[in-house]
Amino acid sequence: MNTKEITDTYELAVYPKRDIVLVRGKGSRLYDDKGREYIDCASNIGVSNIGHGNEAVAKAIYEQYLKLGNCYSMLYNPVRAELAQRLVNTAPKGLNRVFFCNSGTEAIEGALKFARATTGRKEFIAAVRGFHGRTMGALAATWGPEYQKPFMPMLEGLKHVPYNDYEKLNQAVDDNVAAILLETVQGEGGIRVGDKEYFQKVRMLCDSKDMLLIIDEVQTGFGRTGTMFACEQFVTPDILCLAKALAGGIPMGAVLCTDRISVPVKSHGSTFGGNPTACAAALASIEVIEKEGLVERAKTLGAYFLEQLKSIKSRKIREVRGLGLMLGIELKEKAGQYVQQIMEKGVIVLLSGVNVIRLLPPLVISREEIDSVIIVLREVFED
Ligand SMILES: *Cc1c(COP(=O)(O)O)cnc(C)c1O
Repeated sequence: MNTKEITDTYELAVYPKRDIVLVRGKGSRLYDDKGREYIDCASNIGVSNIGHGNEAVAKAIYEQYLKLGNCYSMLYNPVRAELAQRLVNTAPKGLNRVFFCNSGTEAIEGALKFARATTGRKEFIAAVRGFHGRTMGALAATWGPEYQKPFMPMLEGLKHVPYNDYEKLNQAVDDNVAAILLETVQGEGGIRVGDKEYFQKVRMLCDSKDMLLIIDEVQTGFGRTGTMFACEQFVTPDILCLAKALAGGIPMGAVLCTDRISVPVKSHGSTFGGNPTACAAALASIEVIEKEGLVERAKTLGAYFLEQLKSIKSRKIREVRGLGLMLGIELKEKAGQYVQQIMEKGVIVLLSGVNVIRLLPPLVISREEIDSVIIVLREVFED
């Protein structure tokens, strides 16, 4: 049997698979089992911000694993300490504490628990088309029957309101709401960029009602939108959830919070959370982002990419939009078949929702590579 046949025989079929076997990657290029080269515009859904096969991160992982690969968090470790300090110093002011976990959904799970523990309240408000993960707590915050329906009943106390609509949110608030959970740019929900004014009003509402603001930056974090964290362009949260690009491709999540957040000792934790190998990878990855100026790069190349996308003349395209190197092409029809066509022409892209093509290239992508992607998109979409 070949790779596809073995996978389809033995792996639980929860993923809508694409017809490609990837074996290698370098920078913003990927290679399949036939040696064919692709330009990556997916970054493993925003994981590979620093590109593939980074040697500094590989070396950090190798060396740390040999030195001390694992060290559970009841014991102190200098690499974990250094990363905690680094994240606090990198994040917006006031986010002074870190909890380490291993994925995005776990970061959300932690945030929901910390919000309940801190406020003594039970309810949450999230947004229509929001995506926050797939474990039972986060799943209740994730919008959409395709994710929730087979797994009912959901965690109680979660309401969804239309995204970027302050009045609707305001109407949904009552004294039982512990926190409001939002993305600044909806990643799975169609690359929808919120308004700064909306987030500022939400911030004031949270302060006036003693609610917490949780911002999910699992997808937008680490330079993707042209600032280290997207929230810098919108609002300062009480709790910031990170994962995906945090550790340069190694599984890791983190919850950053203000001094207001308090959780009883022993009430929460994670075996792998903050293991030195992942922490070393994260430190090395953050170093790469800073040294190579990837945040600035996402900003300038993102603006260039968006401008190029806007120049594509197509009756199939309703709108192009995005922030930094987090871009969406909304079609007037379902986008699935185009994702396949674009891949056949050597570019790997993502879907977002049903009718949006999502582009999340590694932040190391070059202007020339963007031009090549535009040529492919013109071939596929221009009338
Ligand atoms: C991917 C994602 C998650 C879930 O992360 P996992 O690591 O897959 O659990 C949560 N929130 C957002 C915004 C995401 O993009």
